[in-house]
Amino acid sequence: MNAVVLGGGMSGLMAAHVLAGHFERVTLVERDGGGSADPRRGVPQGWHPHVLALKAAPLLERLFPGLGEEFIASGGLRVGMLDQHRINYYGHQFRQSKSELETVWASRPFLEEGIRSRVRAHTNVTTRFGWEAVAPISGPPGRVTGVRIARIDDGEAEDLTAELVVDATGRGGRARGWLGEMGYEAPREDRVQVNLGYASRLVECAPDVLGHDRAIVVGPKLDRPRGFYFTVQEAGQWTMTVFGYGDHRPSVDPDRLMAQAEALAPPDVWEVIRSARVSPEVHSFQVPRTFRRRYDRLSRFPEGLLVTGDALAVLNPLYGTGIMSSAAYALVLQERLREGLDGIHRGFFRDAARVVLEPWLFSSLSDSFLPGVKGFRAPGSGVASWYLRRMVAAAQHDATVAAAFVRVAGALDSPLALARPAIMRRVIGPRKG
Ligand SMILES: Cc1cc2nc3c(=O)[nH]c(=O)nc-3n(C[C@H](O)[C@H](O)[C@H](O)COP(=O)(O)OP(=O)(O)OC[C@H]3O[C@@H](n4cnc5c(N)ncnc54)[C@H](O)[C@@H]3O)c2cc1C
Repeated sequence: MNAVVLGGGMSGLMAAHVLAGHFERVTLVERDGGGSADPRRGVPQGWHPHVLALKAAPLLERLFPGLGEEFIASGGLRVGMLDQHRINYYGHQFRQSKSELETVWASRPFLEEGIRSRVRAHTNVTTRFGWEAVAPISGPPGRVTGVRIARIDDGEAEDLTAELVVDATGRGGRARGWLGEMGYEAPREDRVQVNLGYASRLVECAPDVLGHDRAIVVGPKLDRPRGFYFTVQEAGQWTMTVFGYGDHRPSVDPDRLMAQAEALAPPDVWEVIRSARVSPEVHSFQVPRTFRRRYDRLSRFPEGLLVTGDALAVLNPLYGTGIMSSAAYALVLQERLREGLDGIHRGFFRDAARVVLEPWLFSSLSDSFLPGVKGFRAPGSGVASWYLRRMVAAAQHDATVAAAFVRVAGALDSPLALARPAIMRRVIGPRKG
């Protein structure tokens, strides 16, 4: 039995790892060549900060026992999300406090390489670097029986037969277009038009350059939908990022970007950046919209095909839940494979939609505050966004509220946890201080 995974990013690697336990042969098809330590062409977001959401750690640990320790041993940095993370949301500086809530900060290529090395250890997984998926192969009606791939260098084509093909090609998602060609409906998209831009530069400085703090976040405000990140990563580097919505997207001109960063950064942070060596290149990335594709709502879908990762849903990257979602989908796949391949798409898409629901609601709700953001609104989002604004104000002086917010933002708790009476009393009770 063969499986083919299309795309060797985070979700493709995790899917291949799971499939290796169920199929004789797994082929991972990746358009980029292998071997570069820099962010790859196919993953341009790799130049921008990639935090593992709090929930990502336990999910990754279930997939790859010991991975968290491996990340730290090879140079990733452990960051306390309440005591080493300076958070300013909507103009409110969260109260810092000691806590067990920790995650790993490292560059995206570092995290991807850590996972890829685990996948390399499977002797039944072969990676075809420098090949791209071009078309599905259909056998009997209603079934995908493989995929045609083509070598990037010379266009030479090859057909791979497989009992299961998994589309992990990222936000573009090849399977969506293929469905139309095979006579199926494409999935509906729930969308939020965010028009978000990122611009980042690497900064050389030691992990303790800001004393205890290792990640600085200045979030957008209603009257200034632009923000700033300064985050530690491996190998004596930090990433400085300016992000913004609509007309407030950051400049790609190095000098103008520095001026925008200076206007947002806390003075001590700006002092560090100003006197450090900053890479000359500015890397930018545009996220026109966030979405979830409702494969779970389709009444007809071919056997032998699944879709995972960003091809299924893209949330706002500011909340850092993409890798966590990829891990959650891989665990859903592992679970569904136990029941066999027949009709696997139904259970897989249903459960995948469930695991991404709460992070999606949190991401779209938090964006719905901002001027110019349009599209999907969760039911009750008017009241919820009023409550969230009160909450970030309370987090300024109340460490319990700050912790509750950080747990939900990291997908560790459901957004409903914010409406627990003990938290509500602190948020809408009389203001202190
Ligand atoms: C600016 C930015 C910042 C982010 N920050 C965070 C963060 O802090 N934390 C977090 O968890 N997530 C973050 N994310 C999201 C995260 O990058 C993705 O959710 C995650 O990488 C999962 O992606 P994926 O594997 O599905 O797709 P990708 O990582 O995009 O990988 C898709 C792969 O498919 C390959 N491919 C495409 N087409 C083909 C084809 N036809 N044939 C073969 N191969 C193909 C590509 O080369 C690529 O390797 C961020 C995203 C952005 C844009």
